[in-house]
Amino acid sequence: MANSLAGKRAFITGSFQGIGLGIATSLASEGAAIVLHGLADAETISKAEMAVMAAGASTVESHVSDLRDSDATESLIAKILSGGAVDILVNNAGIQHTATIAEMPRSKWNDIIAINLSSFFDTMRLLLPEMAKRGSGRVINIASVHGLVASAAKAPYVAAKHGVVGLTKVAALEYANVGDRNSGGVTINAICPGWVETALIEPQIQARVDLHNSDRAAGIADLLSEKQPSQRMSTPSDIGALALWLCNPAAHNITGAAIPVDGGWTAQ
Ligand code: NAD
Repeated sequence: MANSLAGKRAFITGSFQGIGLGIATSLASEGAAIVLHGLADAETISKAEMAVMAAGASTVESHVSDLRDSDATESLIAKILSGGAVDILVNNAGIQHTATIAEMPRSKWNDIIAINLSSFFDTMRLLLPEMAKRGSGRVINIASVHGLVASAAKAPYVAAKHGVVGLTKVAALEYANVGDRNSGGVTINAICPGWVETALIEPQIQARVDLHNSDRAAGIADLLSEKQPSQRMSTPSDIGALALWLCNPAAHNITGAAIPVDGGWTAQ
C-alpha cells in the first residue's frame, strides 16, 4: 500500500503531539500532504514537522489556532483551503478535566464542549461541502469510550464525546449517497479509544502513581485494571493505523460507525 495517499491532503486538529501526531505520522507514511494544527511552542511544532516528514509526508504545514473561537476556525479553514483541497479531516483536538458535577467549574464545561464537540461541528460544516463536490472525502472524529459509556467525574467530557458520536451519525446520513465506489464516497466515522498513553491522561496516571509509592508501572496497571480488560494501553500509532485504514477506498461503505479501540472496555 506504499504511497496510497499520494496526492491526498490531510488536516489533523491537535496534531503537534499525542494521538493527533500518531495519526499524522501514519497518514504521512502513505505519502499524504500533512496539515498540522494545535496550540504549541515553536520547538514542539518543529519536532512534529520533522517527524511527519521523516515518516514520508509529501509536504507539511503548521497552523496555530484556538478552536474555542469559531471565527478563528473559519479563518483557519479558509487559509488551509487557499493552499488546496482537504481530502481527509481528522478532528482530534481535545482536553480533559476531572471533577464531579458539583465541583466542575462552569468555565471547564464551556472549554470542553467548545474544543471537544463544537469545533468538530465547525470543521465539518466548513469542509464537508467541498468533499461532497469531489465525491470523495474522509472525516475521522476522535471520540472516546466516553462517547459510548460514562465514568464519574467527567461530565463535560462524556457529554461532548457522546455528542461527537451523534454528530458523526448525522453527518454520515447526510453524505451517505455522495460519490460512488470509484470516487470512494464521503465517509464520516468516530474512533473511540480507551486508555492511550499521552499528556491528556497524565494527571490521571499520576494520581495512581502517587497511590503506589511513585511506581509508574504499578500506577498504570491500577488504572487499567479498573475498566480496560486487555490491561494494555494503546499507543498513538495504534490509533493512527486505524485512521489510515479508514482512508482506504475499500472502506467506502463504513460510515456513521463508532469504532472502539478499548481492549474490551465497552464489551463488558
Ligand atoms: P494531548 O493533550 O496529547 O493532545 C491534545 C491536542 O489538542 C494538543 O495538540 C493540543 O494543542 C490540542 N488542543 C487543546 N486545546 C486546544 C484548543 N483550544 N485549540 C486548538 N487545539 C487545542 O491529548 P491526546 O490524548 O492525544 O488527545 C487527542 C484526542 O484523543 C482528544 O480528543 C481526546 O479526548 C481523545 N482521547 C484520548 C484518550 C487517551 O487516553 N489519551 C482516550 C480517548 C480519547
